[in-house]
Amino acid sequence: MLSDFGQERFGVADKSERETLGFQTEVRQLLQLMIHSLYSNKEIFLRELISNASDAADKLRFEALASPDLLGEDTDLGIRIEVDKDKQQLSIIDNGIGMSRDELVDNLGTIARSGTAEFLEQMTGDAKHDAKLIGQFGVGFYSSFIVADKVTVETRRAGASANDAVRWESDGQGEFSIESIERADRGTRVTLHLKDEQAEFAEAPRIEALIRKYSDHIGFPVSLLVVGAEDEEVKVVNSATALWTRSRSDVSDDEYKEFYKHLSHDFADPLTWSHNRVEGKREYTSLLYIPAAAPFDLWNREAPRGLKLYVQRVFIMDEAEQFLPLYLRFVKGVIDSSDLPLNVSREMLQQNPELVAMRGALTRRVLGMLEKMATAESDDYATVWREFGQVLKEGVVEDHANKDKLARLLRFASTHNGNDTQDQSLEDYVGRAGAEQDKIYYILAENYATAVASPHLEQLRKRGIEVLLLTDRIDPWLVDGLAEFDGKALVDVARARLDLPEGEDTTSQDEINKAHKKLLKKIKKVLGERVNAVNVSRRLVDSPACVVAADDDLNPQLRRMLEASGQAIPESKPILEINVEHPLVSRLSGEPDAGRFDDLSHIVMDHALLAEGSQLDNPAEYVQRMNKLLLDIDSGATGDK
Ligand code: ADP
Repeated sequence: MLSDFGQERFGVADKSERETLGFQTEVRQLLQLMIHSLYSNKEIFLRELISNASDAADKLRFEALASPDLLGEDTDLGIRIEVDKDKQQLSIIDNGIGMSRDELVDNLGTIARSGTAEFLEQMTGDAKHDAKLIGQFGVGFYSSFIVADKVTVETRRAGASANDAVRWESDGQGEFSIESIERADRGTRVTLHLKDEQAEFAEAPRIEALIRKYSDHIGFPVSLLVVGAEDEEVKVVNSATALWTRSRSDVSDDEYKEFYKHLSHDFADPLTWSHNRVEGKREYTSLLYIPAAAPFDLWNREAPRGLKLYVQRVFIMDEAEQFLPLYLRFVKGVIDSSDLPLNVSREMLQQNPELVAMRGALTRRVLGMLEKMATAESDDYATVWREFGQVLKEGVVEDHANKDKLARLLRFASTHNGNDTQDQSLEDYVGRAGAEQDKIYYILAENYATAVASPHLEQLRKRGIEVLLLTDRIDPWLVDGLAEFDGKALVDVARARLDLPEGEDTTSQDEINKAHKKLLKKIKKVLGERVNAVNVSRRLVDSPACVVAADDDLNPQLRRMLEASGQAIPESKPILEINVEHPLVSRLSGEPDAGRFDDLSHIVMDHALLAEGSQLDNPAEYVQRMNKLLLDIDSGATGDK
């Protein structure tokens, strides 16, 4: 009987009984999508299955450190591939850790990663697009269903007895069966019943070539057995040396790339890598990769991340996050230490003083890789910035020691060269600004369109002063953390005080206001509590007005974000700046009708708020005023008849 997966797990009555369970909804969706979208890349299933087998051997070797009995007589860990042309079957067999019944149901019936449902919603049905997305996800075991119409998994957990083994079977359509079996050997056998049109994967030469391609860098022997061949002998196909233990000059680029795919379950090549052996006081080997695309859950600061940790070539743990800071969570790789104890745990890593030094060195290494790309291979770096730029910005806020290095990696849109200049570095900016400009100007806005059209830029534009356009959520924190670059302070152009270079206007705001005192006072009276003050602006050219923040107030961008996240922020009112050269302001100034003066003043204020991307507190009132004004125009009752 098909029963709901969740209920079934708690209600297994008789363990020997064969039961049929439904896949978790996400698995079902993923299976459908994957079979269709990865068709052109179908051979990768073998890489995924060999990776799983090698992980299983790694895990057993690790558990055997504490419980050597787990290995029993069968101490030579390895992987065997069997092809059976007559039966059209391909099997991947390992004598690794194996799985218990519960593990089997959990591992091959569900997807534990959070965000999967949202991720799957982005699928369109367009194979090319979806294949790219799936690549960010990493499909693993389920990729077997690209080539098989039925998959059988027989497994016995290390330490379990022969009659405590389990068989899992599915056609990948929506359910799987599970039953107890006897199994003489420890470990797992995955048997693919190949689809008729995929019979090529039961051909020995084809498989042998694939094993070579996909497993030469794995530290366990991978052998091939051709069932029904004249000499049914098992022959080892790969070189069985863990890739990072080899010397750099012996490893080809293709091998590095294949190893990356094995490690990351990514389908695409990495952008770059760095393989190093550190000797001396501390001894370790690191192999670090920069992927070409962000994983689907990069935004999630809680998602699993980190390097694969080995100690003296023995696998210790996946996702050892202690070796790199959070803002480098996109980096994949392996670290093999000679100094850490074999029984090292996550908790021990957290407290290990050695680790602080290693983490510092590895962080600098990654930043060095990025710097190299940024200076030499700008196309690749553009990819890095597009995929990981937002996360690198976190580094400026969180990693003060490397702030300068990180600042050089930042890229921004700017007003240089019209409005479509992207990917500008701070060095580019400073180089153009020259020595006489001692500040770096920026504007913060919700999006690019708002930033580029912002009235705050008018005077700077007119004078040819470049402004960085910052529109990422993290940017308010970024500029706060950065504060200056190359001795030049970062300045928000939407602040009350705006010091512009050369031809600096040293007149005080009070003096400038003097000539228009009456008008300013009148507007302030109308706007009342809506504004902190009303000033004559020095930064506007084409717009009638803008709002600016007092120098010690929270940036409005930041305020909006904090408010959206439900935080109570102390109230602060903007300053309204008006452009006394603007015809609309002249109109306002000459407006004889008190009611219309009020309406116009409010509208000028509302427009200034809208232009900076703020919401109006009372949009209905704004609409009423606008409607009134429009009707006035219609009836010819405007001010200057
Ligand atoms: P991933 O390998 O990315 O975790 P998979 O879908 O390939 O995802 O596998 C899910 C889980 O099933 C693995 O994490 C592992 O715990 C388990 N598993 C898969 N293959 C094997 C195997 N040959 N031996 C033991 N466990 C396995």
